[in-house]
Amino acid sequence: MGILMILKKNIITRKTFDEVMLPIYHPASFIPVKGLGSRIWDQEGRDYIDFASGIAVTALGHCHPDLIKIITKQSCMIWHTSNLFTNEPALRLAKKLVDTTFAERVFFANSGAEANEAAFKLSRYYSIKRFSNKKTKIIAFKQSFHGRTLFTVSVGGQKKYSNNFGPKVPDILHVNFNDLNAVQSVVDKNTCAIVVELIQGEGGVRPANFQFIKGLRDICNKYNALLIFDEVQSGMGRTGKLFAYEHYKIIPDILTTAKALGGGFPISAMLTTNKISELVEIGIHGTTYGGNPLACAIAEKVFDIVNNKNFLQKVIDKGHFFFKILYKINKKLKIFQEIRGKGLLIGAVLKPKYIIKIHDILKEVSKGVVVLSAGNKVIRFAPSLLITKEEIEEGLERFFQLTKEFISR
Ligand SMILES: *Cc1c(COP(=O)(O)O)cnc(C)c1O
Repeated sequence: MGILMILKKNIITRKTFDEVMLPIYHPASFIPVKGLGSRIWDQEGRDYIDFASGIAVTALGHCHPDLIKIITKQSCMIWHTSNLFTNEPALRLAKKLVDTTFAERVFFANSGAEANEAAFKLSRYYSIKRFSNKKTKIIAFKQSFHGRTLFTVSVGGQKKYSNNFGPKVPDILHVNFNDLNAVQSVVDKNTCAIVVELIQGEGGVRPANFQFIKGLRDICNKYNALLIFDEVQSGMGRTGKLFAYEHYKIIPDILTTAKALGGGFPISAMLTTNKISELVEIGIHGTTYGGNPLACAIAEKVFDIVNNKNFLQKVIDKGHFFFKILYKINKKLKIFQEIRGKGLLIGAVLKPKYIIKIHDILKEVSKGVVVLSAGNKVIRFAPSLLITKEEIEEGLERFFQLTKEFISR
């Protein structure tokens, strides 16, 4: 092989994706190679303000020094033990989660879908053991998102994710979000669980009403059903509380969290109570990687940083600051019909006239800033919780200029 051929063979470009990867994604036209805080750089050295943080995952930004320190330290100790052993980082993290939440028991996994899979299996297992074989009905909500395994797409309320994979997991009903009457009309003694996102993330950044969540709690109590909060996206400081359920002051039976928990390292957790865990037996569920010491050491550090009054107050302040600038932008551009969300999970709903152009708008602004969509008409912002006001200003200025150019064409 000539030297030129060898060089050519090793050049990795966006085109390589189209040649070797399973074509289930449509990634951006550039490849990020470096990140620092809320800024990323591509192969050509161009920089972008990151308002997506890997879909609400890198909550402390890129290459946070404390996370670099802990990953280096733990990687010199022990990475993985499997569940033949327990390990110190997992026990420390679990203790902290138990000390700061409603929960008394913790199960670790690797992704949001796996935490939810465990939650759904556990709620059926518990209901069957404790009540009856027939108590398996799960009530979920339209537009909800709970992950991509077969059980979680079956529970999720978006057919585009669950169709064409053969028979779905049965005995799951979907009703309108924020509609208690709809829940009342389908709940019965065979309902084992109601699962809800406190802010529907992928479904369009739609917050649940207080009365709705309170009503779900009452219904669950009445029918001996478990209330599951999917806080995979809303948890770990994203809304300005450690978990969003604290805004509602309503306690679930099971809570799942992932995304921000590892700050970019894959880990998830399912939290629950002794009442439910009492019926669990050794071996009914498990995972090879879940709770491994490397992931848990990193998550413990993320937890220590996020679980701080001052830190969480700043998330709320920066959320307000972000909203304020978005309103200003909208005064000039008039492209949004509503701006909603909580803390640093923000959705800007496009006016009907711009909805069909959402992908073109996203593509255009991706020249200087990374933003997300949520559903088919919402532009979603989920920046690092440590983003500075200067970075918010700079990123939104880029967003404003690029959007302005686009709509004036
Ligand atoms: C992202 C997300 C999931 C799925 O998490 P994965 O890590 O992709 O499996 C589940 N529920 C909600 C609310 C999410 O936002």
